[in-house]
Amino acid sequence: MSTPPRIAVVGAGPAGLTAAYALARTGARVEVHEAGPEVGGLSRTLDLWNQRVDLGPHRFHSQDARILALFREVVGEDWGLVRAHPGIFREAHVLDYPLRAADVVRKEGLLESARCVLSFARQQARPRAPVRTFEDWLVRHFGPRVYARFFRDYNEKFFGVPLGQLDAALAGPASKDASLVSTVLNALRTQWDNARAGAVKEVTQDFPYPVRGTGMVYERMARGVREHGGEVFLDSRVEALEVQGRRVTGLRTSRGALPYDYVVSSAPLAPLVSQLPELPGDVREHLRRARDVLTFRSNLLVYLEVQSSSLFPYSWLEMHTPAVRVGRVTNFRNWVPQLHGAEASSILCMEYWCSHEEPLWSAPDAELVALAKRELSATGLDGGAGVARGHVVRLPRCFPVYRPGYQDVLRPLREYLGGFERLGNIGRGGQFSYNSQDANWRMGLEAADQARAALGW
Ligand SMILES: Cc1cc2nc3c(=O)[nH]c(=O)nc-3n(C[C@H](O)[C@H](O)[C@H](O)COP(=O)(O)OP(=O)(O)OC[C@H]3O[C@@H](n4cnc5c(N)ncnc54)[C@H](O)[C@@H]3O)c2cc1C
Repeated sequence: MSTPPRIAVVGAGPAGLTAAYALARTGARVEVHEAGPEVGGLSRTLDLWNQRVDLGPHRFHSQDARILALFREVVGEDWGLVRAHPGIFREAHVLDYPLRAADVVRKEGLLESARCVLSFARQQARPRAPVRTFEDWLVRHFGPRVYARFFRDYNEKFFGVPLGQLDAALAGPASKDASLVSTVLNALRTQWDNARAGAVKEVTQDFPYPVRGTGMVYERMARGVREHGGEVFLDSRVEALEVQGRRVTGLRTSRGALPYDYVVSSAPLAPLVSQLPELPGDVREHLRRARDVLTFRSNLLVYLEVQSSSLFPYSWLEMHTPAVRVGRVTNFRNWVPQLHGAEASSILCMEYWCSHEEPLWSAPDAELVALAKRELSATGLDGGAGVARGHVVRLPRCFPVYRPGYQDVLRPLREYLGGFERLGNIGRGGQFSYNSQDANWRMGLEAADQARAALGW
């Protein structure tokens, strides 16, 4: 191709913007269509009460040289090291992470710690088989006692169903994003592995963090796209794909119909498939099943401004107590100082995971703020300081839930999309993948490579 190809990217989250940024740098004419009023997707940062806050804790980790190079290129020197200090809030105490054996034994008790280790050792000797569900996987890897004590209640709060009803595939990602408790047990396992291998590994969770919040990265990528002659259209929802034969030729958006040489989409998978014309009967059937099988958990974020600059030392706390409904509390005061600037207060983000059918999802904001204030006070995490104000953000369908058999619906839908030329399908929703930013960057870079190869650009 001698004239620059015209490429559309659907969605201005991490996946879409990485693809758009990588393509715009090559001279392609890139247009990003974002349904919402701002860039960053689930990784955006809000301006709130003169401070900056993310949508829950957003840490960045990668070992991939290409991803790290992109981070350096976009963020430059504008990052600080977050001395991550997560904690596990139990009913009677908070456990530190990374785990310190002395801390665990002192707080959980010698007897209980010994019982957990014994139960784990028994499971190692006679492993549970077969491993089909998430519960099987957890019991198999950590023993029934540890499972019941550390994993079950917290993860059921998160997923909203018994863990025996979830696919074992959740084990990897859930241990990264959803359950810090898993790190307790990973540490136990690491100690066990190390003891056997005679090795010592240092566990660290420190990570580089953009000084204006996670969303700063995506604001800069969007600026980069525009600087290279591309466009990032906000409030521009993609409603349908234009197709000739098996080739995608354009989009219908809330801005009108537009021709493109190639489309990279980071929109959720099932809606994307349903935007293709003339769907065969079996694909319509898979889409119908997807409504029941490819389900998501939603997240209600209640931000509270607490009138104190030193509430508790943790960056975030996972709430392992059934006494409160809140699942995780992030204290942005303990990230990088540029987030709070000269303000003397601390902004906490209280996360409530739920489905749309639960009354909590449609509760009025004032009720949610009142609930969060009550629960904060009940845990003592407010240190007796007053709450100045609250703010609610709703994240619909943000956590994919891997139900048993979900692959049987996912695979044929992916294969159907894969049969179309000039179409890339990426992202957390696009792949129905419980993943983090770095995985979406990788998908974005790979989609850009594939688009260039297909277009000979
Ligand atoms: C509470 C929480 C905590 C997290 N913690 C971490 C963490 O610590 N570390 C980490 O790396 N990751 C974390 N993540 C995950 C991370 O936020 C996601 O992996 C990442 O944002 C996904 O990027 P994406 O581009 O695939 O999707 P999204 O961020 O969802 O962006 C997709 C975009 O596409 C737009 N869109 C969808 N359909 C259309 C359409 N038809 N037309 C136009 N636009 C459309 C959406 O509006 C959205 O802006 C967390 C997520 C949550 C919710």
